[in-house]
Amino acid sequence: VFISFEGVDGVGKTTQVKHLRAHVRSLGRTAVVTREPGGTVLGRSIRRLLLHGVADDAGRADAASHDAPRTEATADIAPRAEALLFAADRAQHVAEVIRPALERGDVVITDRYLDSSLAYQAGGRELTAGEIRDLSMWATGGLLPDRTYLLDMDPARSHARLTHAADRMESAGNGFQERTRRAFLDLAAAEPGRFRVIDAARPVNEVWADVRADFDALVAD
Ligand code: C5P
Ligand code: MG
Repeated sequence: VFISFEGVDGVGKTTQVKHLRAHVRSLGRTAVVTREPGGTVLGRSIRRLLLHGVADDAGRADAASHDAPRTEATADIAPRAEALLFAADRAQHVAEVIRPALERGDVVITDRYLDSSLAYQAGGRELTAGEIRDLSMWATGGLLPDRTYLLDMDPARSHARLTHAADRMESAGNGFQERTRRAFLDLAAAEPGRFRVIDAARPVNEVWADVRADFDALVAD
């Protein structure tokens, strides 16, 4: 079983992933919890490039292993390059983590997957959804989640809940987060069989109750 959580930053994806992991384990099944970008060693390098910018020529690669934002200005990443970096992260993630786990019969729970690329790289920026979808389907060999939980809430409110300093993506302005939220909702409307849209502005336990009820029905099938 392959589950993804999606939504703009700060909606509580990570918290729900932890609840679901504990629940899966309580059912006696193996849960593999992972995330994008950064679910593999290669992916963590890509994540640093994407979130904190590229190293300068002096070879002073940003060695920070966490998500601390760089203070100095960094070269911008062109939209197509950015889309390819996310796709490379995803290709490695599927090959190294997700497919092997699914072949073992484990439950894979990922904090973001290809819908994030569709919402952020296509919805928020200048590439088309068709381009990003083709790229992602190529990168993953067409692997889609069995279920995708879209945790939906106003990005102005979800961002206020972030405890870390905004990274390169999170600080994008000009209604970027609003467009991204809208893009996620449109994706969910287009694939109602795979998506469940969950109102994430409610207390954590109410959100979790909805996720659990749906997951239990899914695995009972
Ligand atoms: O959820 P997490 O904070 O780990 O994601 C890192 C950042 O990358 C997020 O701020 C999100 O805005 C961005 N992102 C993106 N495109 C993706 C996945 C994440 O722009 N495909
Ligand atoms: Mg984030």
